[in-house]
Amino acid sequence: MPGTNLTREEARTRAALLHVEAYDIELDLSSAREGGTFRSTTVVRFTATEPGASTFIDLVAPAVTEIVLNGRALPLENFSDSRIALPGLAAENELRVVADCAYTNTGEGLHRFVDPADGETYLYTQFEVPDARRVFANFEQPDLKAAFAFTVTAPAGWVVISNSPTPEPTGDGDTRVWTFEPTPRMSTYITALVAGPYVGVFDAYENGAQRVPLGVYCRPSLREFLDADAIFAVTKQGFDYFQDKFDFAYPFAKYDQLFVPEFNAGAMENAGAVTLRDQYVFRSKVTDASYELRAATILHELAHMWFGDLVTMEWWNDLWLNESFATFAEAVCQAEAPGSKWPHSWTTFANQMKTWAYRQDQLPSTHPIMAEINDLEDVQVNFDGITYAKGASVLKQLVAYVGQDAFFQGVRAYFKRHAWGNTRLTDLLGALEEASGRDLRTWSKAWLETAGINVLRPALEVSADGVIESFAVLQEAPALPAGARGEAVLRPHRIAIGLYELVDGDLVRTDRIELDVDGARTEVPQLTGRPRPAVLLLNDDDLSYAKVRLDAESLAVVTEHLGDFTDSLPRALCWASSWDMTRDGELATRDYLSLALSGLRRESDIGVVQSVHRQIKVALELYADPAWRETGLQRWAAAAETSLREAPAGSDHQLAWARALAASARTDGQLALLAGLLDGSETIEGLAVDTELRWTLLGRLVATGRADEAAIDAELARDNTSSGQEHAATCRAARPTAEAKAEAWASVVESDTLTNYVQEAVIAGFQQPDQRDLLAAYTEKYFASVKQVWETRSHEISQQIIGGLYPAYSVSQATLDATDAWLASADPAPALRRQVVEARAGVERALKAQAADR
Ligand SMILES: [Zn+2]
Repeated sequence: MPGTNLTREEARTRAALLHVEAYDIELDLSSAREGGTFRSTTVVRFTATEPGASTFIDLVAPAVTEIVLNGRALPLENFSDSRIALPGLAAENELRVVADCAYTNTGEGLHRFVDPADGETYLYTQFEVPDARRVFANFEQPDLKAAFAFTVTAPAGWVVISNSPTPEPTGDGDTRVWTFEPTPRMSTYITALVAGPYVGVFDAYENGAQRVPLGVYCRPSLREFLDADAIFAVTKQGFDYFQDKFDFAYPFAKYDQLFVPEFNAGAMENAGAVTLRDQYVFRSKVTDASYELRAATILHELAHMWFGDLVTMEWWNDLWLNESFATFAEAVCQAEAPGSKWPHSWTTFANQMKTWAYRQDQLPSTHPIMAEINDLEDVQVNFDGITYAKGASVLKQLVAYVGQDAFFQGVRAYFKRHAWGNTRLTDLLGALEEASGRDLRTWSKAWLETAGINVLRPALEVSADGVIESFAVLQEAPALPAGARGEAVLRPHRIAIGLYELVDGDLVRTDRIELDVDGARTEVPQLTGRPRPAVLLLNDDDLSYAKVRLDAESLAVVTEHLGDFTDSLPRALCWASSWDMTRDGELATRDYLSLALSGLRRESDIGVVQSVHRQIKVALELYADPAWRETGLQRWAAAAETSLREAPAGSDHQLAWARALAASARTDGQLALLAGLLDGSETIEGLAVDTELRWTLLGRLVATGRADEAAIDAELARDNTSSGQEHAATCRAARPTAEAKAEAWASVVESDTLTNYVQEAVIAGFQQPDQRDLLAAYTEKYFASVKQVWETRSHEISQQIIGGLYPAYSVSQATLDATDAWLASADPAPALRRQVVEARAGVERALKAQAADR
């Protein structure tokens, strides 16, 4: 959006000039039920190093009614372009700003939601990256920390939660006033406010003399589904593990976790008041993978209380470190905490984080982990697979490189040294160098300042009688896409090599060698003279970040026996390898399908099963030769039906296969089965056709023309909740008619009234691979409107549209040409260009993969 940017240079200048003491913030939310605007009064006290100098404070608001600096009223015209100019600073300053701020429905700032289940209004804030300024005037940059004291007026009977513990409200009549204690010194982006008739469940974390009150909140309409005990159990494991590893007591007064509606991200690490998307309160049966993901999110946010909140990045260029640390911490805690239900978390990490990172790192927009973040627009498109997933993968490699004990020793010193302050990457690396004695400058340059993925390949010679005569690891420089930033380099890799043998039909590891790989060729003398095992697996245990290729004999064994590894991690590595070979056109889609159907027969890890299901669907819709695609889709749907019928009753696998069939059913028989499950005339033992599964079944029937609008209305009548409304919006947009597509398009592109969640639901329904003919007309419309969308909508909303409505299923040279013509003529801003270029790369890759499948 124009006028809301802030450059790094401006932030530097402001930080050098100011020291912010404290904010008193009064918010009058008595208008919350009506919406519109609310009164926001900020009093901020700060010092300036150069009396007489000028600066500005940030505010995004429809109107300002009062600006008083050091007792002197400033003209209201000083407020323009989301800033208030502050001339003539004194050494010590007090500024008072009164504004009318707006409730939002985009999940940014102060989000306002009305629950159709009870008609009540629910509010929450989401401030990262720069949206605290939508609620109160502030110096919006992470290194201007301060104490924040909130005073909130809200309807009587409401619950109000912030970073400090909730006080007893005062007053009478229709409203009450909550006066919160000041927070410790923190950044603006982790302050928070949640208000509404939410309901809470309470517990405490106790450890010796320490007692931290714990709360878990959601809307009343979700209360019956809130399994607070399970959430508290994971939270307490996290407290135990992190306090021990960090050697630093939890730094805030209490720890609330609030499940809030229409939340854009997974969760947000507001200090002591974490918000999480409320799909994590499960209304219907979900697989264990969903519980695992929720637990990981809980631990991720908890780790941020130290790394991010207690010690905070100076500027957004270190966002990657913030996110990578929390992502690494969630996985290592799951893997090691006593009583953890998900000790196989590194399998999930390999399966999800690595796959995400490898995909992102091959896009034309890829960049070094240490990205140049010159302004807020740069950072907002940088919540990507490099920042989260590659960063975390490289951090895992760093831990392998320095050793885990030295790593945590360095982290402990870092927290003690920088508590309540701001840091740069060098502060952490310095602490790790001291703890480990390893020089990290070369390491950091190779891993953090360059882009792309190295390929590791085995080179071996085996004698006629099966003895290894030589073995080396070959490293290739990344194949950087055209236009990508950074140079392609070889890197130091700490890796393990696994040796596997077939024993009674199982692939079991018989030995493991750990070594440093450096340069183009690293000899492995430890392997010479030994009999060649059935499978030699590079990067076993997934220590490093690299594409791995198998030698021909290992590949043949894995193709036949992928499901037979007794450990889930090598299976996940082989799944990942076969998937990226498919994406790279090195494995034909039809061969990938055969391999996957064979491997899935024995894959026990439900998270991996669900990932493979998604990957198969992508491969068939995008990477298959169009002439063969229908054959492949039929084969897949038939396999899904058979597997559904054979899966153990009531198992997670049964549910996963039911969803896979619901997403891919094509024949009359399969579609009749979906209809039968929905109306109850068909049953499958152990399969609960509950609220969420009903919508999934109906969605497919609607998209194939087997169910009409009346069926959607009837389903919504059964489930008239916010989730029900979103599913209904998806179904309506999925109808196979030109009118339905036009209606969906208009509601998203030509109007701006949909909430973030309903818009996302409409886009999901609109894009149907089986409806390529109906969608063809929208390529031109997309390019005609995308620039205006970017210029007029909020960041979250425009990002959904730009990525979501790109003609991704129209895999053709014509789509590439249309994209190129637009890029050449539209002169898009860098952040918009990046999003379109990333979408284009998907079509280009699909064209190549289709050629390989031919
Ligand atoms: Zn995070």
